[in-house]
Amino acid sequence: MYPKVKIVATLGPATSSPEAIESLISAGVDILRLNFSYGTHEEHEKSITQIRSAANSLGRNVAILQDICGPKIRIKGLGKRMTVRRGERLVMAKKPSDESFSITHPELIDSMYVGEDIFFADGTVHTRIVEKSADSVVLEVLTSGTLAEGKGVNFPDSDLALSALTQKDREDLVFGAEAGVDFVAVSFVSSEEDVKEARKIVRQAGGDAWIVAKIERKSALKRLDEIIDASDAVMVARGDLGAEAGLFRVPVLQKEIIEKCNVKAKPVITATQMLTSMVNSSYPTRAEVSDIANAVLDGTDAVMLSDETAVGSHPKDAVKVLKETILQTQHLCKASGSTGPDSREAFVSAAVEISRLVTCDFIAALTHSGYTARHLSRFRPQKPIHIITTQPSLVRKTTIIWGVSACVAIEDFSSEKELTGKFLEKSGLKPSAFLLVTGYLGEKIFQGKSVRYINRCDLDRY
Ligand code: PGA
Ligand code: MN
Repeated sequence: MYPKVKIVATLGPATSSPEAIESLISAGVDILRLNFSYGTHEEHEKSITQIRSAANSLGRNVAILQDICGPKIRIKGLGKRMTVRRGERLVMAKKPSDESFSITHPELIDSMYVGEDIFFADGTVHTRIVEKSADSVVLEVLTSGTLAEGKGVNFPDSDLALSALTQKDREDLVFGAEAGVDFVAVSFVSSEEDVKEARKIVRQAGGDAWIVAKIERKSALKRLDEIIDASDAVMVARGDLGAEAGLFRVPVLQKEIIEKCNVKAKPVITATQMLTSMVNSSYPTRAEVSDIANAVLDGTDAVMLSDETAVGSHPKDAVKVLKETILQTQHLCKASGSTGPDSREAFVSAAVEISRLVTCDFIAALTHSGYTARHLSRFRPQKPIHIITTQPSLVRKTTIIWGVSACVAIEDFSSEKELTGKFLEKSGLKPSAFLLVTGYLGEKIFQGKSVRYINRCDLDRY
């Protein structure tokens, strides 16, 4: 048994060594996330080399997700982590000093007003402005928590019109394209234009990354369908979403976003605070395990760790907890119920139906762009999914798709026999029988789309 829901883990100071990266991958991580809110291009370059070499030596298919920070406003000029308590007063100033800290867009202090609520660190620290001067505001802490350099700042009541792609993001996208990252997560998208703009920059720089839209703004919720349609994948970014749209709306929003993605066959990652207690503790809470299991039951394709692996004391244990929870829950995963297959999905849905009725070890699917792979996964087969692709650059991208067990690239084949032979040889699989779904790609030898049942006798006759 393997986890059908994929595991994303964020690299950070706690996991920057080659040994730490290897240990995350061997614990079961499918996708490593590089958080471009922190670190230099040199540091990210080094991580990319280390990830590629660790995956290679462990023989694992591992992808890299570049998460660009967007117009996120962050704490700046705070010397060290600071625990703040309810009732305490803090000074946020245009220029940080011994008594104050600043933010990455200090000019915004001008438009702040007494009575405005300001949230820090994924909304965990709630404060309110009680005094204002020309260069600073005084905040009263309403909920205690920890502030640190780089932590996010949210102003849910203000209508700051900041574009999703900053100058830094544009430079980071070009860097990522040149470094060959597999996914780019775009923060704070508000429309399909933001997604298209990011894709354009990546393509112009020669990259082919899939674009992941992070849903974390109220404006994105209003245009969810168009954003999902324009994206290759989506992230339920619960941290900022909770601070922007309201904490208590997060569980229902998570279900709604996942359902929409499932129906459109777009992979979706559920992110943030999945195992926060494990930043310090080696064991999760019941509530955290339930949250992970519920995300799996909601239909998420992947679950993500942030601080748990970036700065936590038990990164490997956190990955193991995700894996174990997924394994204990995934048998209940079902195809999203509200819409049945449409004509384009007839063959993949038939394959899933057949896989329930006949004895077979797995479903293999031939795909070029990943379309057939995503749509096969949408029907949530109990049998493992093996992807065969003519595009080597697709191999790592299939790591985000629910249920995909492995993917091999076969660029050249001229008969079904050759394709099947190369696939079994490369994958090392020795099935007694399996199903093979071919999309239009197989036309030259399969004469159109097909679902084939291939058993041992057929294989022996080759
Ligand atoms: P972040 O995105 O960690 O980059 O802020 C995820 C989230 O907001 O949940
Ligand atoms: Mn965020």
